[in-house]
Amino acid sequence: MASDLHFVLFPLMQQGHMIPMIDIARILAHHHQATVTIITTPVNANRFRPTIERAIKAKLKIQVVELQLPLAEVGLPEGCENFDTIPSFDLFVKLYAAMDMLEKPAENVLQGLNPPPSCIVSDNQFPWTTDLARKFNIPRLVFHGPGCFTYLCLHIVMHTNILNEIESNEDYFVVPGIKDRIEVTKAQASGWGKVETKEMVEFFSRMKVAEEGADGIVVNSFQELEPNYVEELAKAKDKKVWCIGPVSLHNTSFLDLSERGNKAGINEHDCIKWLDKKEAGSVIFVCLGSMANISTEQIFELGLGLELSKVPFIWCIRNTTEESDKWLLEYEERVKERGLVVRGWAPQVLILSHKAVGGFVTHCGWNSTLEGVSAGVPMVTYPCFADQFFNERFIIDVLKIGVSVREHDNTGVLVKKENIKTAVERIMDKEGDGKVRRNRAKEFGEMAKRAMEEGGSSHFNMKLMIQDIIEQLAKFTKQN
Ligand code: UDP
Repeated sequence: MASDLHFVLFPLMQQGHMIPMIDIARILAHHHQATVTIITTPVNANRFRPTIERAIKAKLKIQVVELQLPLAEVGLPEGCENFDTIPSFDLFVKLYAAMDMLEKPAENVLQGLNPPPSCIVSDNQFPWTTDLARKFNIPRLVFHGPGCFTYLCLHIVMHTNILNEIESNEDYFVVPGIKDRIEVTKAQASGWGKVETKEMVEFFSRMKVAEEGADGIVVNSFQELEPNYVEELAKAKDKKVWCIGPVSLHNTSFLDLSERGNKAGINEHDCIKWLDKKEAGSVIFVCLGSMANISTEQIFELGLGLELSKVPFIWCIRNTTEESDKWLLEYEERVKERGLVVRGWAPQVLILSHKAVGGFVTHCGWNSTLEGVSAGVPMVTYPCFADQFFNERFIIDVLKIGVSVREHDNTGVLVKKENIKTAVERIMDKEGDGKVRRNRAKEFGEMAKRAMEEGGSSHFNMKLMIQDIIEQLAKFTKQN
């Protein structure tokens, strides 16, 4: 029975990985009465403490165990426990080194768990959890972040010679062996998993081995969104793939929605009051995720583009400078009738689920992509790095519910205000292509909601996944 199971979750310390894992923890405990232990560090635990405390109050069997990362030992400052607090990409390797040192403390935690652990669900970036699962004789599922389409594209570019056959970074190529015609540049396709240092090469090969040793793959997506790709991914990885999302839809209470991921940089009630005054489907929400840092010049262009478009907007900006702060003060005054600027963290899912929102300018992180789909809104795509370029292609070429801010590949080049204006106007257009995209987006939004309901595909998949774990556990026990 699911209620006899004890899941141990290891979320990667990055918002885009941690937020869905916390949702998964609550779904397992709520719908399936399982016991769940989340293993993370103090700074990260603080970000979702109120959510977990509410879950515990509601009698869900959830606990968080905090482990201290040996930051000083790897040369990271105190508090640098999340990838969004690390000042530069080259320091990521230090956080990976610190994460590696959690293996023994995590083993001690598992040793003391009551009821004993029955399954590990870990981010792929904790490769040592495969050994941990073997030591405890339990299955380990891997949770990796992207949807099946992007996961498959990444698999193809990483496991074939295709990138070596393309000469320059700017050259486009067609992703081989998949149903849709997907063209990306070499630079866009290799933006994920850049392996430039010896340590990273070694880490990536351990991740690959760990993934091969996993007993299944958990994906935050739903069957109806990408049926072909679910199947193709399972074939390519030779593993069971469990699509159990969109997990963000598990959040229905105002507090869960408004506190999801972090404390918001705006009073959530004020935000809702502002939206309540706007016409249905008239507002565009602009947010570029938890990691992307855009330049001051780019902030100006983005702001001016929104201003030119005349569309009401909520714009969340996470990184500002003294110069952009000064500029923003005047800007906010100019656009105050129709623009709301949020500094820091926006309650994204709360905003997206408001009926006044009719479009989303997104950096195409997978969670944001799926949250846009769940809200049933078309999207302006503004990818910045990593798997976001494949997610952009998914939104535009597969789902056909998006418009890019870029006319061609000029990744890294300033996106001009005219391009922002045009893309925003196209996505908010109520006629022609705009209407077609909007209707398609609405349909996907309905499908997403159905998938998460009792009897829906994701709800059912979670049941099948649990059943599979029970069977695997029985096999493991028999073998030993
Ligand atoms: N998010 C949010 N408010 C913000 C920025 C991000 O709630 O101001 C959430 C967003 O809803 C999503 C996650 O953080 O769940 C970001 O994940 P995603 O995969 O979209 O992008 P990443 O931040 O990893 O680039």
